[in-house]
Amino acid sequence: MDKKDIRSLSRAELEAELLSLGEKRFRAAQVYKWVAGGAESFDEMTNIPKALRDRLEELYFIPTVKIVRKLVSGIDETVKYLYELYDGEHIESVVMKYNHGYTVCISTQVGCRMGCSFCASGQNGLFRNLLPSEMLAQVVKAGTDNGVRISNVVLMGMGEPLDNFDNVKKFLQLVSDEEGPGIGYRHISLSTSGVVPGIYKLGELNYPITLSISLHAPFDDIRSEMMKVNRRWNIDELLHACRDYQKITGRRISFEYAMIRGKNDTEACAKRLAEILKGIMCHVNLIPVNPVKENDYVKSDGKALKQFADKLNSLGINTTVRRTLGSDIEASCGQLRRKFENKGGEENEGLQ
Ligand code: SAH
Ligand code: SF4
Repeated sequence: MDKKDIRSLSRAELEAELLSLGEKRFRAAQVYKWVAGGAESFDEMTNIPKALRDRLEELYFIPTVKIVRKLVSGIDETVKYLYELYDGEHIESVVMKYNHGYTVCISTQVGCRMGCSFCASGQNGLFRNLLPSEMLAQVVKAGTDNGVRISNVVLMGMGEPLDNFDNVKKFLQLVSDEEGPGIGYRHISLSTSGVVPGIYKLGELNYPITLSISLHAPFDDIRSEMMKVNRRWNIDELLHACRDYQKITGRRISFEYAMIRGKNDTEACAKRLAEILKGIMCHVNLIPVNPVKENDYVKSDGKALKQFADKLNSLGINTTVRRTLGSDIEASCGQLRRKFENKGGEENEGLQ
């Protein structure tokens, strides 16, 4: 019999399972506390009788994230992790310090099948979905390893969260449990490249999380060239889904826009963007594109970013240029893992 992932069980599910094993409620609560608190083995559960620990060991396993690399930015306090999973796959997480506390950016898949032209995560396709427990483990480890309380979570690392919908949904439930990490939905953001059916499904859940859309271009031809997903669901369909999401949840939507010199940073793009976002309560985040090896994109310069932002703001669209954190440690997800995998897991130099 395959062992079951104990960390992906909700408190209620774990209690039901332990009761069916003939255990008492308080034991289930104790085990849940260990699992949700980041225990990596049953042996650590010192207040649980040995016989029960042995039984749990027979029936369950605890998926963990093992630190393979940890890079700390010398510029800000951003910390980037390369983790190994139970099956030897690798993912990345980033912990960022903001005025209001610590935010962790987690991965939702190993690789990604969306294949956006500007992104390092998608260049080799999808390897597998992450389990709810593996997303949770990234949040818990970020807190314990840095000795801080994590206040916000963003699903903006490697992978397309809406392409792993059920596991992401379960993770959202686990991470928001007050008896577990207790990070409320209002402190969680989910970023998607535009998987339209997933946005409708997320809206139906009506969790008040922030939806972040990687828009990157206001014209279908440019967007389809950058993002294959746009050939399946175009901008019009995407924004329709965003309006629907907003109607249900009442939440402001964030639009991410990676500025590429000469491609999507023109005045015509700014004007069109303002037009298509009209009527959506939103915020636009501009970020200079991070060049990756496979394309020849060049980031827009500071002047172009400012002009673009000024234009949008003057047209009534709330826009900011995003602060880039951890620029010395390749804090953009996907980059570190690719370097690592391409070298067959050897020590890699030249991370600057
Ligand atoms: N798959 C989801 C979430 C992960 S990507 C999505 O696409 O939204 C997280 C963010 O990083 C997205 O906004 C994505 O567009 C952006 N991104 C990826 N590669 C980038 C690069 N080279 N430069 C700037 N932003 C990038
Ligand atoms: Fe996947 Fe997002 Fe990267 Fe596109 S930008 S390849 S959806 S991780």
